[in-house]
Amino acid sequence: MNYERIGPIDVIFGERESRAPFSTVLLLRDGGDAVLIDCGAGHPAFSSVSREYRVREIFLTHYHLDHIWGVYLFPQAHKWINPYDYRKLTSWHELAKASGVYAAEGERGGAAWVVAQQEAAESPPPERDTAHAWGRVFGAVDRVYPYQQELMLAGIRAVMLHAPGHCEGYCCPYFPDHGVLHVGDFDLTSFGPWYCNADSDIDHFIQSARMTLEVDADYYVTSHQKGVVTRIEYRERLERYLEVIDRRDEKLRQAVKRGCSPQELLRQEVFYYAKNLAANPGLLRYQAIGIAKHLTRMVRRGEPWGDYVEHFFAAAGLDRRYLDVFSVPQAADQIGADALRSHESEGNTKMNQ
Ligand SMILES: [Zn+2]
Repeated sequence: MNYERIGPIDVIFGERESRAPFSTVLLLRDGGDAVLIDCGAGHPAFSSVSREYRVREIFLTHYHLDHIWGVYLFPQAHKWINPYDYRKLTSWHELAKASGVYAAEGERGGAAWVVAQQEAAESPPPERDTAHAWGRVFGAVDRVYPYQQELMLAGIRAVMLHAPGHCEGYCCPYFPDHGVLHVGDFDLTSFGPWYCNADSDIDHFIQSARMTLEVDADYYVTSHQKGVVTRIEYRERLERYLEVIDRRDEKLRQAVKRGCSPQELLRQEVFYYAKNLAANPGLLRYQAIGIAKHLTRMVRRGEPWGDYVEHFFAAAGLDRRYLDVFSVPQAADQIGADALRSHESEGNTKMNQ
């Protein structure tokens, strides 16, 4: 198991340097018991964890499969999710809308996707199959944690900071006593920020990234490839990482200026290289949504492209009604309320963040 130890917190790196569909997880140790933050590292790592610890609880930062696919390997553990994402992991239609299936495929396509997922979930892959599947994790979450409130996880003070943008419910777990902030999908990769779901938002992403800089931490744990970075490194790299958003804007601006058609725009490698799209055509949906988020934001900021954007929606086959889908958060005290009270009673102060 490839890991790094920060006090009682183990940072466990995932397979393939935690590239999606894997991710880095945190293991909070409390004697023989443990709490996991996210659950996407890999089978060998999870086998080691299961041999050494009783995993009592798993706290998930958000609903994306690369962060949650492994929860079925810990059937005895309670699974906690943030207040926005509970419904996505318990309603196929909410998952389809938030993920952008409705935006890309329309209502009929969204409904067909739901039926296909339900059928697949009824005959889950055999245990020896290591593929990551929604059917294995759907309905597994049973508790909702609150944001911005002090909790005790494995005897460690923790605050789940709301950081929307990547998706609306995104959360950065913060451990103030150990100076650890799990920045997760503010992952500092050269790919740049990802905000290509219907419940993603570019401006919220930027605001949340700035919020992470306000947090008093020494160790910033990223979810993919970059591992743990110091405060100074994080500040520097985050600026470069956010600049990718401006470069995407500029790439689109130049393409429109030189007369690129909406159909051609979809293939301009704004997010994904052509070779990646050829290898995985499913990524085209995210490329279309990501570009649409950029274009609509640029129009809001004054670019005179209203008609062009309409043509882009048509060329990309996007249903505009489902491009921006935001939901009402589930109250944390409605699900797992008793468990939450016991968590709180272990702490003695409340934090206002
Ligand atoms: Zn994610």
